[in-house]
This record gives sequence, C-alpha cells and structure tokens, in this order.
Amino acid sequence: MSTNVQKVLVTGGGGFIGSHLVDALCADGYEVTVLDLLTTGNAKNLHASMDKIRFIRGSILDESLVDQLVSETDVVFHLAAAVGVRHIVEDPLDSILVNVRGTDHVLSACFKYWKRVLVASTSEVYGRTAKVPMQEDDDRVLGATTVHRWSYSTSKALDEHLAFAYSANGLPVSIVRYFNSYGPRLDPRGYGSVMANFLSEALSGRPITVHGDGQQSRCFTYVDDTVRGTILAGLSEESIGTVVNIGNTRETTILELAELIRDYVGSKSEISFDTYESYYGPGFADTRRRVPDATRAKELLGWEPTVSLEEGLALTYEWWKKNVG
Ligand code: UDP
Repeated sequence: MSTNVQKVLVTGGGGFIGSHLVDALCADGYEVTVLDLLTTGNAKNLHASMDKIRFIRGSILDESLVDQLVSETDVVFHLAAAVGVRHIVEDPLDSILVNVRGTDHVLSACFKYWKRVLVASTSEVYGRTAKVPMQEDDDRVLGATTVHRWSYSTSKALDEHLAFAYSANGLPVSIVRYFNSYGPRLDPRGYGSVMANFLSEALSGRPITVHGDGQQSRCFTYVDDTVRGTILAGLSEESIGTVVNIGNTRETTILELAELIRDYVGSKSEISFDTYESYYGPGFADTRRRVPDATRAKELLGWEPTVSLEEGLALTYEWWKKNVG
C-alpha cells in the first residue's frame, strides 16, 4: 500500500476499535504513536502492543500536543471521540466539544503539516432515515435539537464537513462510517454497546433488557473487519476525498440478538422489554433500522466483512469469560 508511510499516529488508540487498529498497524510494521486520554479507553486494551508503541496520555483538546504529534507523523488515524449514545445523552456538552474542537485541532494540524488523515465517523450520521440500505451520499434525517441524541450525529457530521472542506483544499483525507462494531475489549460498562449489556446480563442471569419492542435492527460488524476497512481506507489512494461505510450487511433485530446471546451462553435469563425512557431518559429517539450499503467499500477498497455474527459472538464471548468474568 503506502510504501512511504512509516510513522502512524492513532488518536483514541486506547479505545475499543482504536486498540485493535493499533495492534494491526504494529503487526504490519508501522511505528505507532497513540494519543488517548483513557476515559472510555483503557490501558489494558493496549497490553499486547504497549512495548511496541509510543503512548501519550492526553486529550485531542490539547491543541499544542496535537500539533506536535501530528508534526512528527506520516499519517493520522483520528478515532478519538466521545462515543456511545448513552454517554452522549448524559453529557452532551462534553461530547460536542470533544468531537468538534478535537477534530478541528487534528485536521488543522494535518493541514499545517500536510499529513494524510483518516477520520473515523459513524453510521449515526444517517440519523433516523427510513431508507435502507444507507448509501454514503444519502440525505441525513435527524430529530429536533432539543433531543440530545442527535448532537452526536451532528457533531460527527460537522467533523465530516470539516474533513471535506480540507479535502477541497487539497488535503488527503478519508472518512469511514462505522456500523455497530463489536468484539473482544467491548467495554463492559456498556458504552455504546447493546452487545456488552446483553452479554453481561446473560452471564449474570439477570433479565436481558430489550428496549422498545426489540424489532429495531442493527448490522453488527466484527472489530477485525472494521479495522481492516479502516486501514484500507486510511492508506489506499482510492479512498482519498471520500467517505466509505464500513459495516456488515446482515441485519439483526435487537430481539434476535438477545435470543442469540442467551442461547449461545446457555443462560437462563429471561428477556424483558423496557421503555427507552427508563434507560436513556425522556425524549429519546431511536433509529429503527440501520443497514449499510457496502458497495463503495467493496468497489473502492476491495473490502467485505469476513466474520459472521455467530463466529464474532464466539470470539467475543471467549474474551469476555477470561477478562470480565
Ligand atoms: N439496546 C437495548 N438494550 C440495551 C442496550 C441497547 O435494547 O441494554 C438497544 C438500543 O435501544 C438500540 C440498539 O439496542 O435500539 C443498539 O444500541 P447501541 O447503544 O448498542 O447502539 P446504537 O446503534 O444505538 O448506536
């Protein structure tokens, strides 16, 4: 791929997807620097790669630190962000500032030093559009600004706009939109992950709590697939100036997921239905179906998901038993 790339900066490299990305980049022989504040990220995530990387504990809100680290690298993978719908709903101000100001710092430093950059975005950007599969150039459909949930979508969309604006000025920028990644190192606290909540509930015998009627759907993407798509998009020439969905196309309802997990772990947990309000607070709006169109990823990057939900769940469960209990 990029023969002249040696040094890579990963912001958010201590996070769930970020740490798997760091492992893969180390395995590919890159010199990796990680910038992470370790709030939702975790030093344990970097256990396998810690002796190979340069780790900087810090924030993307620290403009001079970002400037310095970007100046020293060849390529930036920008994954640091406030993540997880619940987290966003609980602290919308922090989320907006981290996602917008932080990305501004990263992109302006990349522009200053002319460094290639990949921006990790999210399928949340599509909002609650009823059109599936979601294609990269589709319209976004969002709720009112009084509903905090949409601030996440909007902050990430603003990141994308910024990236495209720098791209229009010639900066080599690529954007990926993730669809419900899961796998080992899922945060057991459940930030942004129904999978983590269900695993923890099923294993403890507590009821598996499905919000609403459970007929809302997601496309669960195993983290190794997510990471492969991220590296391809971050380093290949073909993805420069574009946004690419990185998501498995198999659609699963949340009720199906609950049953799959309960049966897989052999749990006696009952599946209970709860209101959205009891988990997220009043005024929450959910996305009913979320399905990627993965055509661009295939055509541009040769990327296709390779890990089925059953295989991915088995790998996640194996890790969970050893590391969470
Ligand atoms: N969900 C659920 N029970 C939980 C956590 C989440 O039923 O304990 C639902 C949630 O309401 C949403 C879906 O699962 O409809 C996916 O939620 P998650 O936070 O994992 O990701 P999202 O796709 O909403 O960003």
